[in-house]
Amino acid sequence: MENSGAKFSPRPNKSNQFCSVFGCNSRSRKNPELRFHSFPNECEHTRRAQWEHNLIIGKKLTKYMILCSLHFNREDYILPDTHSTKRYLKKTAVPTCNLPTLSTCKVISSKEKEQNNSRLLRFAKRANCQLKFEDCENDDINIIHETLPNTPVDKHFDLPTTSDVSVQVNSGDIKLNILTLMNTEQKLSTLTDISSYQFLDSLVESMQLTNLVSSRNQNIISLKERIVMTFMKLKQNMSYSVLAIFFDCSNDKCKRIILNTIDILSLILKPIISWPFRTEIKCNIPTCFRKFSDTRIVIDCIEIPLMKPKNLTGSLISYSQYKSTYTAKFMTDITPGGTLSFITPAYGGRTSDKFIFENSKLIDKLENGDAIMCDKGFLIDNICAQGHIKLYRPPFLKRNKQLSKDESLMNVDIASARVNIKKVNQRIKIFNVFQKYPSSLLSRLDASFTVICEIVNLSHPILANDKFVT
Ligand SMILES: [Zn+2]
Repeated sequence: MENSGAKFSPRPNKSNQFCSVFGCNSRSRKNPELRFHSFPNECEHTRRAQWEHNLIIGKKLTKYMILCSLHFNREDYILPDTHSTKRYLKKTAVPTCNLPTLSTCKVISSKEKEQNNSRLLRFAKRANCQLKFEDCENDDINIIHETLPNTPVDKHFDLPTTSDVSVQVNSGDIKLNILTLMNTEQKLSTLTDISSYQFLDSLVESMQLTNLVSSRNQNIISLKERIVMTFMKLKQNMSYSVLAIFFDCSNDKCKRIILNTIDILSLILKPIISWPFRTEIKCNIPTCFRKFSDTRIVIDCIEIPLMKPKNLTGSLISYSQYKSTYTAKFMTDITPGGTLSFITPAYGGRTSDKFIFENSKLIDKLENGDAIMCDKGFLIDNICAQGHIKLYRPPFLKRNKQLSKDESLMNVDIASARVNIKKVNQRIKIFNVFQKYPSSLLSRLDASFTVICEIVNLSHPILANDKFVT
């Protein structure tokens, strides 16, 4: 869990002040990055009582008692514009971080307390070194969100709930930065499927070059965060309310940003899916296609379950009785080498593969002597024959008859060639947004599918170099 608490640039302290919160070992000389505050005076009765309650003071407050900034969120401060000016604790601030719990106050001996706190300090120091804060507009403010280890330290402090993080920042200048949590490329890739920081940076650069980024709140949510947010939605299908916590903005704003970013990304990445020349295909024939070396493309349909569409026409077209759910269907065309070379717009789940194929006008792109490989769903013999295009399709079982020996062998060969191609579709399906496509993004179904196909094309190749005919 995240454990927040405000820290600032270190400053020398002449006097040595102690934090009076139970279990907190902060001292002004030892912790120059902390600030100390006295309790609200007696005129502010309610607030004073709130502080006493949260901190479980349990004795009479004296004017010498102070507490450290670890018990406040960064949102509790009015932050200055310049380095030299002072920062103030807001008049409404109430300590909510690193609070003691009553039960442990009594049980834990002072020796244990010391051990636990030194452990906490060690951990805080380590976290301090590990975490780098980007996008912190105020350089001098260095507020660290530490993660506490699951050790007896937890007994000391109530870990803050996520509500701490989701508090709206009024000043708009600092927030929990999700990018700092993705401090390794593996974490970045797990959460977003973006394979490297370099790739992320080039996406940011490309986005900057377009004038399409909606300028609203651009200073609050950076382009990098917008891209990360969008891919977190596509890869993890996180709800807007969860994203709103991570990115510290409203659900609506998250949704607007994602719609806008999907549009831009699908444009920027468009050249990634392109129709290859026949010579390029000929140079890259995998060994499993040896018997089908004239294959120009392998076609397949991919079905995406949808959340129930809001309008009735949409639901009628996309309802599939066979799967008793609402689905959309895309046709993907993949080169024998495993690159997506053409995708259609979305069709309702009830549309036949044959109809999608005919409507895609793909046949016009093919040249005399090309061959298509497909599965049994594509009843496209006639149209292919008319266009002088050869068709590789697993043979149908005729009534009460077994496949002939040749047919069976053909069946096996086609199946083994198609296995690799199926892997491409699996990579598309890894994006959780396609487990149940949200109706909020329905208007961007084509664009999200395109973006994901483009990302799949940019990921590592499905076939190793030694799997090709040389
Ligand atoms: Zn303290």
